[in-house]
Amino acid sequence: MNQMRVKNIFTDESGRKTMEINVLPSKYCTFGCVFCPLGHDGRIKTDKAFHFSETDGFLLSLSEQIDREKPDVLFINSMGEPFSNDQLEDFINLAKSKNIKVSLYSNGYLLGNPEYARLASLCDEVSCEIKAVDEASFQKFQRPLEGCTLEQYLDNMAGFRKNYKGEFVAYICLVKGMNDDPKCVARIRENLSRVNPDRVIVETVTDEKLGKSFGVSSDCLEEMQRAILKD
Ligand code: SF4
Repeated sequence: MNQMRVKNIFTDESGRKTMEINVLPSKYCTFGCVFCPLGHDGRIKTDKAFHFSETDGFLLSLSEQIDREKPDVLFINSMGEPFSNDQLEDFINLAKSKNIKVSLYSNGYLLGNPEYARLASLCDEVSCEIKAVDEASFQKFQRPLEGCTLEQYLDNMAGFRKNYKGEFVAYICLVKGMNDDPKCVARIRENLSRVNPDRVIVETVTDEKLGKSFGVSSDCLEEMQRAILKD
């Protein structure tokens, strides 16, 4: 089934009407996280952009849906990396032509690629992820493309952030056995100060099935949220 579509329309925490879309026909990502809610069937692990024949049709129907629903924000939150669609800029331009803001969600690794960074910089808001705290857990839990390292990952996000003029948001996902030990807090804070986001959101794995194996308890979440976000 083609997954390229409007996924949801909701009101975000700032009261903005948000249209959430997926610009990929299936999962394309640089990582293969063991806790990925998208699963692993039919996934393509890649850092490349591809041409998808269904994109033009989706752009047409999206234009009509935007006219009908009149959202404030187009939220590009795909099945993996939105940069894998070689027409990502057309989605950004469509939103701009209708005077709506663009929010882009990425795991952040590809922000080190100049062309992908250029595309991200066209968006009003960019969200990325900070999860593993050391190289061993990055390789074990996030299973990136060969040659990817945590150091490079953090450098890619930090480098993008230095030049980016929009709002940069970091999502910290607490994963059981990976970064839920209170000893990880110092390292998470260090990584955050290196990446320097405008806003930080601390969460855990909530997927119905995966939450049992990888989600942390609400007490642990609250305690670590406090410790990570304290001034
Ligand atoms: S980065 Fe996100 S989409 Fe990619 S494998 Fe990990 S959890 Fe899934």
